[in-house]
Amino acid sequence: MIQPKPFKFACPKCGYSKVVKPKSDVLNPLDMMGACPKCKTKMERKELNVFDNITSIFR
Ligand SMILES: [Zn+2]
Repeated sequence: MIQPKPFKFACPKCGYSKVVKPKSDVLNPLDMMGACPKCKTKMERKELNVFDNITSIFR
């Protein structure tokens, strides 16, 4: 079984970002997080960098 990797959604317009840890039963996380909650711009999926991984996993 493949462990789902956390990733980040970032809004290209206002800079809002959110780390998402997908569960195995979620087929498409983009369905839950398609638009920025602040400005409704479509959010982009970003891979986490090393720093993001450290801060998110131990939170
Ligand atoms: Zn935004």
